[in-house]
Amino acid sequence: MRKDLHTESTLPEAPRPHLTMDELQEIHERLLRFSPDALIVVDEHAQIRFANDTVRDLFGHDPESLIGKRLDMLIPERLRGRHEDHIRSYMRDPDNRDMGTRISDLHALRADGVEFYAGIRLAPFRLGEKLFVAAAIRDMTERQRINEELVAAREEADRANRAKSRFLAMASHDLRQPMQTICLLNAALLRVVPQPDAGELLRQQEQAIASVTRLLDTLLDISRLESGAVQPQKTDAPLAEMFEELRSEFSSLAHTREIDLHMEPTNLVLSTDRILFRQLMQNLLGNALKYTEHGSVRVCCSLQAEDVIVTVEDTGIGIPADKLERIFDEYYQVDTHGTKRMGVGLGLAIVKEVARVLGYSVSIDSALGKGTQAQVRIPRQHLVRADLQRTDADAAAPCGADARKARVILVEDNDGVRLATELFLKFEGHETLSAPSVAEAHKLFDKARRGDILIADYRLDARHTGLDLLMSLRERLGSSAPGIIMSGDLPTVLRAMNEPVADCRFLSKPVDTRVLLEAIEELSVASS
Ligand code: ADP
Repeated sequence: MRKDLHTESTLPEAPRPHLTMDELQEIHERLLRFSPDALIVVDEHAQIRFANDTVRDLFGHDPESLIGKRLDMLIPERLRGRHEDHIRSYMRDPDNRDMGTRISDLHALRADGVEFYAGIRLAPFRLGEKLFVAAAIRDMTERQRINEELVAAREEADRANRAKSRFLAMASHDLRQPMQTICLLNAALLRVVPQPDAGELLRQQEQAIASVTRLLDTLLDISRLESGAVQPQKTDAPLAEMFEELRSEFSSLAHTREIDLHMEPTNLVLSTDRILFRQLMQNLLGNALKYTEHGSVRVCCSLQAEDVIVTVEDTGIGIPADKLERIFDEYYQVDTHGTKRMGVGLGLAIVKEVARVLGYSVSIDSALGKGTQAQVRIPRQHLVRADLQRTDADAAAPCGADARKARVILVEDNDGVRLATELFLKFEGHETLSAPSVAEAHKLFDKARRGDILIADYRLDARHTGLDLLMSLRERLGSSAPGIIMSGDLPTVLRAMNEPVADCRFLSKPVDTRVLLEAIEELSVASS
């Protein structure tokens, strides 16, 4: 049988919902006298006309003793002048408001002379013609202390973060020099060691060197972006050209991984920072190829009402839905069962930072086991125009001319790097004249002849860059001598240049030896 709970209730009878007039009156009085905040009413001359009992606890004054006194006495002397001005302006335009939203130093004074941080809320009212203002006051010292601690902790965290970024930038920059030496020596050894086993070991070592180089690039990129040092420098950039550059950069990786890399033709021209845009796309495209085992990677672009959308789509392993939220975090990597980690977890953090700097937004959609789609949303005001369709995208592909042995003038102040480069170039069959300084380089220029290729660091000494040296060689020879300029911080160097330099390649240090050889080959073909 069902029991009716109400019939057996032992609860006391419910109280009457309405209070009597006397009870209500009593509550009003008590509320006013003992409210959690000290309550003070002043007239338009800032004279105290009422103070409740809580005023005694907060200020240490007998509330009765305050009646008729000026409000000033509850304010530290040093602040009275300013307070007077505030009261005058408030009385001209009274309304309900928090005092102190524009005053950081809102202090009140106790009877014993001790000051405290006050939180004050004002409410004006009229009795007949007379204006009064009620003030509810509370001690905010503790909250202020917590706020100050939070601000200090935040500043400390920001300082530590900036120090980390500076350290990473310096460390990744300074490690480039020795990495360059190792890289060149390894390439030279590969040339001279005849045993196949040793050759295989060196090739493995070459791959390890390439991963360290990539890591250094990534660390330098993220630390420069985070330190706020990167200011975009926009030019009109046809997307087709930028897609083409990416295609030639990634096609051999796609080929090795047997993935179909497809870049859709586009005729859109953006106003963007080419280097940053490329950095963003390199990371998205790199990920798409890294995390795809079979199938294809497609890059395309579409024009919508508000935005230009660039999409990088793959048929790869995908990302679990519950991990999508965190993939843009620094050093975050999805721990997908059965797949090995293939980076350090900074690629998408770089994408996020670059997008922030350029004013784009990036979103990633994914289906586990099916593929991933990254979309870069570029506000339409960055679109310059739509050019006529490029039909011959491959026209600019480098022609496969035979390698010619060039003579190189090498200027490098680091002994290790200079010797390693000399050795490497020698084993590749190039004659090298080398100089450890700008002064020595000028002496070598006496022997220079047309077609010689200058290879130099961008930053040579406090006054000279490799580019200055190339210009003086060109003056000396009266011709456009080819040059290869290397830098540990290539994006900054490229950004500092106003216009492109003909017959000059800019390479990032530590230089990829294959890229260096290709540049020498191209330049020697061009100057022959
Ligand atoms: P990582 O260096 O590990 O590639 P990223 O920041 O570039 O770091 O990416 C974070 C994580 O997001 C990666 O570890 C990977 O698990 C996942 N991820 C990013 N892009 C893709 C993609 N196209 N397909 C599948 N997983 C991806």
